[in-house]
Amino acid sequence: QIEFIKSTIVDSDSDVDVDNEKLQRTRNSKLIEDRKALPIYPYKDALLQAVHDHQVLIIVGETGSGKTTQIPQYLHEAGFTRSGGKMIGCTQPRRVAAMRVAARVSHEMGVKLGHEVGYSIRFEDCTSEKTILKYMTDGMLLREFLTEPDLASYSVIMIDEAHERTLSTDILFGLIKDVASARPHLKLLISSATLDAEKFSDYFDCAPIFKIPGRRFPVEIHHSKAPISDYLDAAVVTALQIHATQPQDDGDILIFLTGQEEIETAENIINRRIRALGTKIAELITCPIYANLPTELQAKIFEPTPEGARKVVLATNIAETSLTIDCIKYVIDTGFCKINCYNPRTGTESLMVAPISKASANQRAGRSGRTGPGKCFRLYTEHSYMNDLEDSTIPEIQRTNLANVVLLLKSVGITDLLNFDFMDPPPAEALLKALELLFALGSLDKDGKLTKVGERMSEFPLDPMLSKMIVASDKYKCSAEIISIAAMLSIGNSIFYRPKDRQVQADNAWMNFHVGNVGDHIALLKVYNSWKETKFSTQWCYENYIQVRSMKKARDIRDQLESRLERVGIDLTSNVNDLEAIKKSIISGFFPHSARLQKNGAYRTVKHPQTGHIHPSSGLSQVLPRWVVYHELVLTTKEYMRQVTELKPGWLVEVAPHYYQLKDVEDSSSKKMPRGIGLA
Ligand code: ADP
Ligand code: MG
Repeated sequence: QIEFIKSTIVDSDSDVDVDNEKLQRTRNSKLIEDRKALPIYPYKDALLQAVHDHQVLIIVGETGSGKTTQIPQYLHEAGFTRSGGKMIGCTQPRRVAAMRVAARVSHEMGVKLGHEVGYSIRFEDCTSEKTILKYMTDGMLLREFLTEPDLASYSVIMIDEAHERTLSTDILFGLIKDVASARPHLKLLISSATLDAEKFSDYFDCAPIFKIPGRRFPVEIHHSKAPISDYLDAAVVTALQIHATQPQDDGDILIFLTGQEEIETAENIINRRIRALGTKIAELITCPIYANLPTELQAKIFEPTPEGARKVVLATNIAETSLTIDCIKYVIDTGFCKINCYNPRTGTESLMVAPISKASANQRAGRSGRTGPGKCFRLYTEHSYMNDLEDSTIPEIQRTNLANVVLLLKSVGITDLLNFDFMDPPPAEALLKALELLFALGSLDKDGKLTKVGERMSEFPLDPMLSKMIVASDKYKCSAEIISIAAMLSIGNSIFYRPKDRQVQADNAWMNFHVGNVGDHIALLKVYNSWKETKFSTQWCYENYIQVRSMKKARDIRDQLESRLERVGIDLTSNVNDLEAIKKSIISGFFPHSARLQKNGAYRTVKHPQTGHIHPSSGLSQVLPRWVVYHELVLTTKEYMRQVTELKPGWLVEVAPHYYQLKDVEDSSSKKMPRGIGLA
């Protein structure tokens, strides 16, 4: 031992360098070998030939066959990036996938991420002048139509994970089909993991289908004998059982859960139980992966499992097809995922936990059979699989709020939405609702044409109500405050944190920002401004139980919004003490989300019969003001309004006279209402 240490010390740096170089070389040759071992590799030439021969190609291949990471590289090697420095663009439905895949490809090509290989996701552009392979979310490519309607910077567009049928992907299909017919040299690849490629082919005028034969080992499927009520607990128990009874070196475990909160809970339980077992059991390393997982933690799932240990990956749908994790032998499928549901009648949107489809269930099972025979444990009965699950997931376009894409389509000059070439058309009711909202926000005129306000709004990569709030802040001379609020709202609910052992201190810190029942929007503004006053101090965040990572993200978003203000000609004006002006700007965008207190302590939206409660995390949850405006309505155990601010009903008539009349907001019930109801 001593000698070993000595020899390393005695060896000079130069020797270490040589070793590193050797290591690098073996690593590189390993990478090259790995690339050659992928199922797609033998088809490289045939694929390039097919791309050469056809403008549009549908590509189908099992997850992990190398579509996302290899095809853009093959095309680059074949010269598609050469002529005039054009790029190859590849879209992904998920941000994490775009980032991870770009990181992987830059590694394979031995270049720095953001140089030749980069990614672009909302509020984060990691590309440069040099970039030739660009991975991006489908939503980002959609926004590129605003600045470059013919996508002239690209020689190839690959719409990847097409089977996911996200709203943005579906809209891209329609737009890109037009571009392709106008630009005969643009190559278009539509790639998907499932075999229902005929639908894509039909849509793209019988484009040929290129199949990459998969390599798949048999997967044993186990269904639960009886229905399971607590799938989270069942998933943890199953994982621990596998770990305790199966040899460690035979493979890792992948659990599909629905979201960050569940993943964190499961992670805690597993870690606790493993710790309690002490040395009686081998190490089990938990690796979470979900959309908002900080970048530096994402890489962990791809790191090789140390000898003698086992990895359990806790993932959302992201691991279904977008990301391939090697060495998974056991899949635990809870049978649920989070999906977006929209009710066009009331205009409310909610993220709901819902059963997956049969297609999803089979994709999930398939994740266990990539490197050897696998096993999948379904936490639902076979009867349930056969009878309760739909064959495939309903495309997002048929179950979501369309306001955002309708504004975008109008901005790129698509006027006749009813005749837009949708692969599957959205419900007419949802389309109408979107047009109605955009009209109410002033972004469309009564002929459905984009207005000046609408033009300005479309510059912001935000939901129309948020964009409108920003555009309106021009009038109220508080754009500086409003973009801070918009940035903070875009972060979601990860600003404050509350450690178990210091809840009282955390609550006190939280209270400081809510003094005077200012409402959640103003509280968020106070957080941002206080942080800014400390010159963005990390220490300050710790002291105030604020997540520094979220704050940094908010600052980045705010910076981007500020530069967009300039682009649309709105001055950055600050009016931090005029809360009325700030609230009126908010209402200018969110007036459809105004609600009135009912006798039973619930709220009812003014225009549509929608009830909701103030979320317990809100600063106003104990105050219950008579009138509020809310940012979003989420459905968990009941319908909750998140991020709530008090308003004066008269403001609604002032800000949106076309939408509210005095009679809508008259407080007829005020006399009957017991005073100070619910006051803490
Ligand atoms: P597909 O798009 O067909 O599902 P990918 O191109 O994403 O396949 O992945 C091909 C292979 O590359 C995977 O099976 C995996 O072995 C490897 N790979 C991809 N991403 C990573 C990563 N971030 N780290 C390590 N290996 C990766
Ligand atoms: Mg892929």
